[in-house]
Order: sequence, then structure tokens, then C-alpha cells
Amino acid sequence: MRKNIAAGNWKMNLTLDEGQKLASEVINMAKGEVSNDAEIILIPPFVHITSVEKLVGSAANVKVGAQNCSDQGSGAYTGETSVSMLKSAGVSYVVIGHSERRELFGEDNALLAAKTKAVLDGGLKPIYCCGEKLESREAEQHFAVNKEQIEEGLFGLSKEEILNVVIAYEPVWAIGTGVTASSDQAQEMHAYIRGLIAEKYDQETADSISILYGGSVKPGNAQELFAQPDVDGGLVGGASLKSRDFVDIIKSF
Ligand code: 13P
Repeated sequence: MRKNIAAGNWKMNLTLDEGQKLASEVINMAKGEVSNDAEIILIPPFVHITSVEKLVGSAANVKVGAQNCSDQGSGAYTGETSVSMLKSAGVSYVVIGHSERRELFGEDNALLAAKTKAVLDGGLKPIYCCGEKLESREAEQHFAVNKEQIEEGLFGLSKEEILNVVIAYEPVWAIGTGVTASSDQAQEMHAYIRGLIAEKYDQETADSISILYGGSVKPGNAQELFAQPDVDGGLVGGASLKSRDFVDIIKSF
């Protein structure tokens, strides 16, 4: 059966000292308080990955993720970070196609498909993000937008490959706004995305893939969101920067 996952995307926040403090607190609190079998993923900025990985050590249920990667293997790509570098630093997951990458850095579905493939070829797991903007939802285009992002980003993969992908539905209007999708809205879109995978591959494959919700997940709404049958956890931004809040979210399964 698919995994429950609580992933904390720190985005471009925290100095090294602050990041180490946060990671230590989360790891220690989780060890003492978390009794469920959720996988916890800490996703710091690149420059903090090695230190956070050392702190995680052998904690079985805590993994380290990266926020982005290059689609290229190596070479003259100044400022870029390859999948093999991330793997050698102990990374397990790579976020691909976060709406901030799509919007602010012009990443399109074709590039994101290439990055997803690079992550899988390198033996890591992509957390592939999709999600509509407010105007698309208001125009009732939200299913079409997510369908296109999923089809163009993921459906070139084989069945064996897509089984290693985690999907994160993050409606852009809910990110950093304090406006969360209702649990019904999240469930509706997650079920729709799972249905697309079942149609393209098969039901067993669709049922094996974790689909996370992201967008203003907080301790106060996590339990209701995670209780939805097709919501397998959260990709948490702001609330993952506070150890107490993030651990309370992890305890919400
Ligand atoms: P917030 O939880 O701050 O809304 O951010 C969500 C997000 O973008 C996680 O990747």
C-alpha cells in the first residue's frame, strides 16, 4: 500500500545554523512523539543538505530531499546541481516542478519531464508538483490544467518508473496565502489525478502512488486533509519552518 508522507519544503529560508537547529528539533521531537509510520522528508536549500543529512543519520523514517535539480548529467552548467551530486550527498527525493519554479523560473512541462526522468535514472524519487492558478479554478479549467501537467510531465514514463514518483497537488492560490483548499476540493482533485494514472497505466499502479496536498497546510487543518482517502500526506511550506507545527502535522495521520 502507498506511503503516508509529510514533507517540509523550506524554500529559500534559514541560515545554516537555523536550518541545523530546525532539523535537530524535528528529528528529536519526531523520535519521541510520532508513533505512526509516516515518512518524514526534510527539504532544505541545497547548501544545507549535507549538514541536514548528517543530523538525520540513521533515523529510519526521516529522509532528505532537494528542491530542484538539473536535467543534465554534468558539465558546463554554472549554478546547476546534478542528480548524481544530490545522490552522493544522501538525498532521496527531489521536488520537480514546484509552482514557484514554473512561474518564476519559466520551467515548462517538457523540461520538467526531462528532470523527472533524470531523477529516476539517477535512482532518486521525484516529488512532481502540479496545481492550477486561481484564474484557472475560477474559469473551471482546474481539471484540464492539472491533466496537462500530469500528462506532459509524467506520462512518458514506464509503469515501473511512475511507481517511484510521488505527486504533490499544490493549488497556486493556496500556497503561502493562508487559504487552504477545503478537504473536499483536495480529495476531488487527488481522486481525479489518481483516475488519470489508472486510465494510463492501471488501477494497481494508481493505488500505489502517494499523492500529497500542498498549500497552507497547518496543524489545525492537516488532520482533516489527511483523512481524505486520496490524500496521502502534505508538502508543507511555511509551517515546516516551525518544529512544533511541523511535528504536529506529522502526527496528524
Ligand atoms: P505553504 O505551506 O507555505 O502554503 O507552501 C506550500 C508549498 O509551496 C510547499 O511546497
